[in-house]
Amino acid sequence: MPPSSEAEGGLWRSLALGARGRCPRCGRGRLFDGFLTVRPCCDACGLSLVGHDAGDGPAVFGIFILGFGIVGLAGYVEYLFSPPLWLHVVIWTPLIIASGLLLLRPLKGLTIAIQSRVRSTEESERPGAS
Ligand SMILES: [Zn+2]
Repeated sequence: MPPSSEAEGGLWRSLALGARGRCPRCGRGRLFDGFLTVRPCCDACGLSLVGHDAGDGPAVFGIFILGFGIVGLAGYVEYLFSPPLWLHVVIWTPLIIASGLLLLRPLKGLTIAIQSRVRSTEESERPGAS
């Protein structure tokens, strides 16, 4: 018999639920308390989320995505219109801040969903921990 997470949906379903801020196992419970605080457990199915720590992963993924996307756009705008530098600052700074805030939560949910699929939170010690 497959594990319960397999029975309730595959990997892509779990990742999509995590990115939407829902429990990666059942999809009914919320993953976050507030903006980025991970709940201790799912309020619908009881999946423990205590040991999952996304660390800097979501921020790094966001930096990569925004770096490639916005630098590419800024280069394209520079190539087409050659606006003054101050206009680049006025255009791109709020866009970077807003899109960074919009990306961070889904990326953190995605990271927690990946961790909930591949790592048990019930291990007493982490490998390599002293
Ligand atoms: Zn759940």
